[in-house]
Order: sequence, then structure tokens, then C-alpha cells
Amino acid sequence: MHACVIGAGVIGVTTAWQLARQGWQVTLVDSAAEPASGASHANGGQLSYSYVAPLAGPGVLPHLPVWLLNPNSPLRFRLRADPLQWRWCLQFLQACNARTASATSAQLLSLSYLSRQVLHDLQQDTPIDFGHARNGKLIVYRTPGLLAKARAQLALQADLGSEQQLLTTEQLIEREPALAPARATLAGAIYTPSEESGDCARFTQGLAQQLATLHQVELRPQTVIRQLDRQDGRIRRILTTTGESIEADQFVLAAGMGSRPLLAALGVHAPLYPLKGYSLSLPCRQAQVPAISVTDYERRTVYAKLGDTLRIAAMVGIGTLEQGIEAGRIALVKRQAQALLPHLQMESAQAWSGLRPATPHGRPLIGRSRAADNLWLNIGHGALGFTLACGSSHLLGSLMRDTAPAIDPTPFRPDC
Ligand SMILES: Cc1cc2nc3c(=O)[nH]c(=O)nc-3n(C[C@H](O)[C@H](O)[C@H](O)COP(=O)(O)OP(=O)(O)OC[C@H]3O[C@@H](n4cnc5c(N)ncnc54)[C@H](O)[C@@H]3O)c2cc1C
Repeated sequence: MHACVIGAGVIGVTTAWQLARQGWQVTLVDSAAEPASGASHANGGQLSYSYVAPLAGPGVLPHLPVWLLNPNSPLRFRLRADPLQWRWCLQFLQACNARTASATSAQLLSLSYLSRQVLHDLQQDTPIDFGHARNGKLIVYRTPGLLAKARAQLALQADLGSEQQLLTTEQLIEREPALAPARATLAGAIYTPSEESGDCARFTQGLAQQLATLHQVELRPQTVIRQLDRQDGRIRRILTTTGESIEADQFVLAAGMGSRPLLAALGVHAPLYPLKGYSLSLPCRQAQVPAISVTDYERRTVYAKLGDTLRIAAMVGIGTLEQGIEAGRIALVKRQAQALLPHLQMESAQAWSGLRPATPHGRPLIGRSRAADNLWLNIGHGALGFTLACGSSHLLGSLMRDTAPAIDPTPFRPDC
């Protein structure tokens, strides 16, 4: 069986690996010169297996005025004259209720735990050097009220299999001394020892290299797909912008935000919208940096030591479609990082921005497309693509090979 996977981000590369290791012939196509050039490039590096709650939650509605009015809010909304945005936002608001959010969290947990298992097995078999660390995660809170809410959530998470501890400020500083300068501003933290981190781009590129050398996968960089050519309900071939065509038995669309126009041309609407985020990468040696991954909850900023790099990722922009880096937003990320870790020197920080390919409800779409019998989707992983990649690809691989999936695929079944 020959499969062509479109998109060499973390989702496409893990999908290609799942198929190739089962003996399929695989062609992996991407418009960029190297794998992980899109959203997978310099993300927050969190393998956040226990923290998978969707953005659409019951707490959203009370915060809406802040998002709309405060320019320093980590979440920013820009209304556009774009029916796709209105449709996505309407579906997002419909999902902002406790029942939907807790059902989605449970479904995402089943996928994230599968992901963790698959990544651990991969690292056991053919290890990839991507700064993978099982160093735990601290979610730090600045207000006692929010810490109390987080404590209530602990019980729910415990029922779903997470091991977590509530830390006072003193216990927090004892566990992570790099936070000592900010002691007076912190109310406490939740510590999850089992969480992991790593460099998503290094992982994706390392796995792509293994695909070429160990599994004879054909990598086709700098190949832009213009159209999926459908005849009699099947994709017969895909057409590139240079006039080439690629034929295969099965096709997988894992092109992040690039998936939406390709599906639209087939007459189906993929409920994807880009959520823009930023990151900074700094050399670790310059200052005392946290050894444990830290999330500054109120500022929605994550800090992770990825080998000899400190990665800081932040911001969710809904309606900011431009790829570039806005000076005001990145300056805000720097100021907030220095407030938490005053020793950081930002002169050498490398700034990056990326677009998270998000569904309104927060569940990725994994399975057969309605557009064609031999077209499969692995898209819409939003803020959790690195965390969910290995599980999503394992699930899709089972569905494509028609073998029993490790988890229930129903919540992730695409309607497009
Ligand atoms: C600031 C930020 C921080 C994040 N932090 C985390 C985190 O800490 N943990 C976590 O789990 N997730 C995180 N994420 C989310 C994660 O990065 C994404 O969910 C994930 O990278 C999506 O992967 P993907 O392969 O679907 O998309 P991409 O990485 O964007 O890959 C899609 C690929 O398709 C290619 N493509 C598109 N269109 C075409 C076409 N027509 N022809 C050929 N190729 C095409 C693109 O070139 C691209 O390489 C973060 C995202 C951002 C932006």
C-alpha cells in the first residue's frame, strides 16, 4: 500500500512513521525546505499529558470583556470581516460550557496518555535526541482565589489518573529555586511530576531523518500542493504548483492551517482557525533558569528548558492572521518573562510566531474525510499538537490499516 502524507510538521511526520513502520510505502510532502517549518517550529515544548483542558471552557464568557478591551491580555480577539471567523467563534462559544469542556478533557486525556505511551516506546526502540526531559510541570498562580479553584480541579484530575500536588509558595520555591526572585507575587502552585518537555522541531526533524534512512520514506521538501484531484469519490493524485503530480493509494492531509483551503476546494468546510502565538528562545547558560517546566497561569506563559535553550511561549491571538512578529506583543512577552525571572537577558532572545491550527471545541480531527474514500485527516491539534502527535498518528494508523484502535476514535471523527 502506498500512502502520500501532505505536511511534514510533527503531525505529518509521526503519521508517516506509523504507516512506514507497518511496511507501507510512504511519500511525505511539504512546501517548506525542511520538516517542522510551520507551527511545529519553536513551540512551547510542553508534553503536557495531564493538562489538556480545551480553551473553550465555562470560564471564557466572564473574561470576554478583558480580551476585547485590554491590550495586555494574553488572549486577544480581533473581529474581522470574515464569515469563517464568525462561524468558528460561534461554535467556540457553544462549546464554552462545563459539560462539553469536561467531556472534551476526558477524551483528550485518553489521547494524550496514548501519546505518552507511544513516544516512550519510540524512545526505547530508536531514540531521538530532542532534549526530552521528564522533569515535571509547575503551574504557578498569583491569586489565592485561582489557586483554590485549581485545588478543586485536582480531585477531578486524580479521578482521571493524574498524580498532582498542591504547593505553598515556600514549597514552590524549595522545589524550583529559580522562582525565588518572584516569591512575593506567587500564591502557590500545582506540581505534576509526570509531565515532560522537549524540542518539537528537533523531534520532528530527527524522526524525519529516521524515516528516510530506516524506513525508506520518500521525503519531498519544497513541494507545494495546489489541489487534490478527485475522481469518482477517490483522490486519484495530488497536483503541485510546479505542475507535477503524485499518485498513491491513500492520502493523508496533515498540513496544519494549510489543510483548510485544500479541503474547501473539494467542497467541505474544515472547522479550523489559526490561534496566533509567540515564543522566545534563549541560551540557558546566561542565567538561572527553571529546571522544571513552569506555566505562569494568569499570563498563560510557559517556560521550558529544552537542552541548552530556554523556551518561553505565550499569547493567543484570535483574528491575527498575519505571520509576522508584532513588536508590541513580543515586548510584552519579554517584560512578563523578566518579571518572573529578573536575571534573564533578552538581547540574545530569538523571537518566533506561529499559528496553532485549532478546532472550536479543542478536539483534533482524526479519521476518514467525507470528501473522498481514500482521504484521511490528522488536523486541528491547536495548542496541543506536540503533546498529542504520537497518539493521534497511532490512532489514524489503526483506522487506515483497519485494525482495532487503542482508544475510542468516535470523539475525533471528522465531519468534513
Ligand atoms: C506559540 C505556540 C506554542 C505552542 N506550544 C505547544 C506546546 O508547548 N505543546 C504542544 O503540545 N503544542 C504546542 N503548540 C501547538 C503545536 O505547535 C501545534 O499544534 C502543532 O505544531 C501542529 O502541527 P501540524 O503538523 O498539524 O502543523 P504544522 O507544524 O504547521 O505543519 C503543517 C505543515 O504542512 C505544510 N503545508 C501546509 N500547506 C501545504 C501545502 N499546500 N502543500 C505542502 N505542504 C503544506 C506546512 O509547510 C507545514 O510544514 C504551540 C503552538 C504555538 C504557535
